[in-house]
Amino acid sequence: MSSIDRLNDTKAAIRRAAEDCGRDPSGVILVCVTKTFPAEDVVPLLDAGHRVFGENRVQEAMSKWPALRARFPGVKLHLIGPLQSNKTREAVETFDVIQSVDREKIAAALAEEMARQGKRPRLFIQINTGAEPQKAGVSPQEADAFITTCREKYGLEIAGLMCVPPVDEQAAPHFALLADIASRNGLRELSMGMSSDYELAIQLGATYVRVGSAIMGMRDYPPA
Ligand SMILES: *Cc1c(COP(=O)(O)O)cnc(C)c1O
Repeated sequence: MSSIDRLNDTKAAIRRAAEDCGRDPSGVILVCVTKTFPAEDVVPLLDAGHRVFGENRVQEAMSKWPALRARFPGVKLHLIGPLQSNKTREAVETFDVIQSVDREKIAAALAEEMARQGKRPRLFIQINTGAEPQKAGVSPQEADAFITTCREKYGLEIAGLMCVPPVDEQAAPHFALLADIASRNGLRELSMGMSSDYELAIQLGATYVRVGSAIMGMRDYPPA
């Protein structure tokens, strides 16, 4: 089975999941996660018309995407991995959407860089719904205050929230928590659900799902 077959299957599953819970399928956007895969593996998906992609590392995206963008107009590239404050310039240059805003230093650096470049990527705040010490994201307790700080102190328009639930737990309570935080803060967009649980995420309100291996195949990480 080719990546295009898997892309089409995933799109069909997204449509079914949305319809099964009475949602308009066009309200769920598929972010195809291409991290670790070379540009040549992405080209067939672009040829097939897909345009929304996710990468988790700024450096990797910078080496892969400018040439692809030049060939395929209309790409929307999402940063779904952690952002260092010394990489905000490159991140604002490279990405249309930054899903991983998670601390004040990043909010400040993004505000400054967006003003400097006159470019406004859509911003999501990452919530560490499982409060895992090793994981990026704002803790659920600090979420409301951080959203307010981003809006009022830094003038940032926040589109929505993103989460990556703990691997060893049921995802549903984490998706529900994310939806709850978004709703009480007047945020529309919810980026949640990966290859193994995007249908569940759609039931719980996801507007963006981030699907990698179910489309691209297993990732082959280079040795550390
Ligand atoms: C890698 C990654 C994904 C995609 O994971 P799959 O299980 O391969 O679908 C989604 N979100 C984030 C934040 C990721 O790092």
